[in-house]
Amino acid sequence: MRIPLDQQSPVPLYRQIERYLRQSILAGKLAAETRLPATRQLAQDLGVSRITVNNAYAELESDGLIYTVEGSGAYVAPANPLPASNREPAIVWPLWQLEAQARAESSPETSSERIPQRPRHPHPIAFTGVGDPRHFPVHDFYKALKTVLHRDGIAALVYGGFDGGYRPLRETITHMLASQGIQAHPDQVLITAGSQQALALVCQVLLKPGDVVLVESPTYNVALDLFRSLALKIIGVPLDENGLQIQGLEMLLQQHHPRLLYTIPNFQNPSGSCLSGIRRRQLIALADRYNVPILEDDFAGDLRYDGRTQPAIKALDPGGRAIYTGTFSKMLMPGLRVGFLVAEGPIFGRLVEAKRVNDLATSNLIQRTLDEYVTIGRYQAHLRRSCRIYRQRRDAMLAAIRRYLPSDVHVNPPKGGLFLWLRLPEKVSSLALLPLAAEEGVEYAPGSRFFPNPVDGEGFLRLNFATQTPEEIEEGIRRLGMALRRLITGSHG
Ligand code: PMP
Repeated sequence: MRIPLDQQSPVPLYRQIERYLRQSILAGKLAAETRLPATRQLAQDLGVSRITVNNAYAELESDGLIYTVEGSGAYVAPANPLPASNREPAIVWPLWQLEAQARAESSPETSSERIPQRPRHPHPIAFTGVGDPRHFPVHDFYKALKTVLHRDGIAALVYGGFDGGYRPLRETITHMLASQGIQAHPDQVLITAGSQQALALVCQVLLKPGDVVLVESPTYNVALDLFRSLALKIIGVPLDENGLQIQGLEMLLQQHHPRLLYTIPNFQNPSGSCLSGIRRRQLIALADRYNVPILEDDFAGDLRYDGRTQPAIKALDPGGRAIYTGTFSKMLMPGLRVGFLVAEGPIFGRLVEAKRVNDLATSNLIQRTLDEYVTIGRYQAHLRRSCRIYRQRRDAMLAAIRRYLPSDVHVNPPKGGLFLWLRLPEKVSSLALLPLAAEEGVEYAPGSRFFPNPVDGEGFLRLNFATQTPEEIEEGIRRLGMALRRLITGSHG
C-alpha cells in the first residue's frame, strides 16, 4: 500500500497514516472486511518503524473503524461501527490543516493557559472588553451616517483613499493630534483598521522572523500574540509606576540589537502606568543612538481622569524616529475598526503599500461618517462624558477592592485609561483563581497573557473598570473576594 507521507511535516507520521486510512475507509475506498497490510509489511513499504504503523492501527481500532483478529491481521470494520454520538465527522481534513494545528499546539505560548472548565455562573460580571457598549453614541452616529449617505451618495460607497485614507478624516486627525503637541501633516497620517492593523503593518514593513522586538513587560497581549505569530524574538523591559525602566534599557539595546521598540506610554495596557516626561526624552535619545524605531501605541491617551498630560513621544521626535498609532476604539467604539498611524520619511509609503496589499482600504463609508461625527463636536462631548463616567467607575472599583479583597492585594491607582492591574498575595496564581472566579460569576484577564514569558504573570490579573456600572463593579469585586478567599483557604473542590 502506498501512503503519501511528509517526513518534514509537524504532523506525526502515525497520524498521517491513520488519517489516510481513515479517509479511505470513510470514503468507501477500503470496503468492509478488507484486510489491511500486516504492520511489518506496511512499515517496510513506507520506511517507518513498526511502532508507527501499530499506533496508527490502534487509533483506527479504538474508533471502531478496523478490528484485529489474533494471528490473522487487521480488517476494515462493517459500516457505522460507532454510536452516532461518538462517530468522527465525515469530513477528514487535508494534511495542511492538521499541520497548521500541530504548529500552533507545539508553540509554548499558546499552550500556556489551559484552564479547566467549570460550570458557568448564570449572570457573570465581566471585567474584560473595552468600553461600556451601553454608552456608545449610537443615535448620533446614526445621524452622521444618514448625513453622509445623503450628502456623498456613491462617493461614500466606492473604495477611496488608497493613498492613506479619506483625506478630510486625516486632516481632522491632525487637528486632534495638535492638541497633544504632535505636529503632523495629513500626508503623514495613514488610516488603518484599528490600531491593531497599524501594529501589524509596522511589523510587516520593518521586521523579519527572528528579529528582536523590545516590549514593556508586561504589555498588551495581542501585540505579544502578533509578535509571536511573526516569529519575532520578544525581550521584555521591566516596568514601574513611571513606565518602562530606562535603566537597563541601554544594556538590552547593546546586547540584543532590537529592530523595534514597542511602548504604550499612556495608561499602559495592562499596568495603567504612564511613562514620565523625563523617560520619554531619554527613550527618544536612546532610540536615536541605537538606531531603533519606536512604535508608540497611544490606545487610550485621551481617557485621562487626573494629573497632567505628558507630551507624546512622537511630539519629542525630531523627525522619523517614532511611529505613532492611535485608535477610535477606546474613545468611541471598537466596532468602527478605525485607527491611524503617523509616520514620516520613506517608511510612510511602504506602510501605505502594506495597507493596500492587506485590505485595500478601510471602509470609506465609516471613515466619512466618523469624520462627520468628530468635526461637529460630538466627539469631544462624548469624550468628556466617557471620562466622567469612567473616573467614577475607577474610583468605585478601587473602593470595592479596599472593601472586599485582602489587604495584601496590591494595586496602583491609574490616572486614566481602562485598567486596574492587581498583584495578588504571594503564591496566589491568577490562573488557579480563574475557574473559581468563573464559578462565583466574575471574569478578568489573568496576568500571564501579558508577559513575554507567561509564568512571570501568574501573580497578577487585569480588571477593566470601564465596562460595568458602579453597582456591578461592587458586586463583581465582592465575588472576586469570595473566589480569592476560597483559593487561599483551599475550600474548593
Ligand atoms: N493597543 C492596545 C494597547 C490595545 O489595548 C488594543 C485593543 N485592546 C489595541 C492596540 C488594538 O485596538 P484597536 O485595533 O481596536 O484599535
